[in-house]
Amino acid sequence: MRYELSNPNLLIAGIVLTLAAVASVEFLPARTLELTAPGVASGPYLNTSDGNQANAAVKWVNVKDTHLRCHYGTVAGNYLGCGLTYVLTGADATRGRDLSRFDSIELDLTYKGPSAAVRVALRNFDPRFSKVEDNNSSRFHSINLRPRDIERPVQLEMSELTVPEWWVGQYNLAREYNRPGFENATAVSIDLPVVQAGEEHEIQLRRVTLKGHWVSRDQVYLGVLCGWMFGAVLMVLNGWTQLRRSHLRQQREIDALTARTRQLRVEQEKLRRLATIDDLTGVLNRRGLEQALEDFEDSARGMTLVMLDIDHFKHINDRYGHDCGDEVLRRVAAVVAANLRASDVFGRWGGEEFLVAGQGTRIREATRLAEKLCDRVAQSEISVAGHRISVTASFGVALAPPAGSTADALKRADEALYRAKEAGRNRVEMDKTLEGTPTTL
Ligand code: GH3
Ligand code: MG
Ligand code: MG
Repeated sequence: MRYELSNPNLLIAGIVLTLAAVASVEFLPARTLELTAPGVASGPYLNTSDGNQANAAVKWVNVKDTHLRCHYGTVAGNYLGCGLTYVLTGADATRGRDLSRFDSIELDLTYKGPSAAVRVALRNFDPRFSKVEDNNSSRFHSINLRPRDIERPVQLEMSELTVPEWWVGQYNLAREYNRPGFENATAVSIDLPVVQAGEEHEIQLRRVTLKGHWVSRDQVYLGVLCGWMFGAVLMVLNGWTQLRRSHLRQQREIDALTARTRQLRVEQEKLRRLATIDDLTGVLNRRGLEQALEDFEDSARGMTLVMLDIDHFKHINDRYGHDCGDEVLRRVAAVVAANLRASDVFGRWGGEEFLVAGQGTRIREATRLAEKLCDRVAQSEISVAGHRISVTASFGVALAPPAGSTADALKRADEALYRAKEAGRNRVEMDKTLEGTPTTL
């Protein structure tokens, strides 16, 4: 079975697929990346500003629980680090992790201390301006959360992470480089933005999970749109092919019909000819002759008729047999046909009787023709089956004037022929009514 693309089943399949694609965006389980799970990132590393000595200001209370404490006795620089960092790069410090597909960060932590904010930060290495030797040149994104915001697990949108002024001010970069972007994230850290000497802070991080979609909504909708457009193009192409195919099929049928019609015409013509041809002699039969006479009548130019009948033909039949008689008929017909003018019509009128019809009313020419034919038939030496048969014929000539009756003219030609028989055969007689007619006619 040939499968039509316009098949409603395909349309339904397309709708189902579209719905499935749209539903998958909404209901497929989210893509998650738990940074705090083992093996996902390296770390956590403590953020400290005093070199991490034995009596360091930033220490693990319990590394297994990701629980740290900061206590700077003295000022150890402009910025006192307190927090932890997960590193997302491997051996190649320039290759981080693409977090651009994630929409949000889920954070579960406890903070104890006097800080007004806990900071969530993300660095992104951008080879256009970031340098490995300057860790700070990886673009910094952060959000400050109040301690009360994180009393319970909190979900941040990635879009809440912004590039702070201090970072923008530090590098004199083109505007577009200062826009947030997480396609090559190198580190995620949880720390305190401002720490004073003498303060004590504790952070315990339970979980940091990134959440996002496997495929973006835009991609799915674009895919669906492309799918439908592709389907539409296929349908148009298919329709066009079908149309062309059916056109070619019809063309072939028309060609076959035309050829058949032509063949039928040829056959019809053959049959028509056969219907007007005498089987035995191959010249026109009576029916063919009558048609030709009608044509002559229509031309209204009149006609001359030469009727001829083989003499003593019965005798030939009786003596040499019917087959020889047939052969004699054929030979006589051939002799007559060979001595006619191109415009003459010749046929077998019946039995051993033939008729020559000429257009126009030149009776003298017709008589001469009859005499010539009479001579030629008499001179013809017909030998059939070892017998030399001498044959003669008698001729009657008549004229059918324009608008005159052909039947009457035929009758007169027959009468003239009868007279030729009476007068001894092997001769030409003219229609009596023409006697005395000027021979120029
Ligand atoms: P005439 O000189 O008076 O014309 O005498 P004829 O014997 O020719 O004329 P007739 O009418 O007495 O005989 C004609 C014969 O022609 C009789 C018939 O059997 C024969 N004939 C007619 N048609 C055919 C044919 O197709 N084949 C043969 N072999 N004979 C035929
Ligand atoms: Mg006869
Ligand atoms: Mg005869």
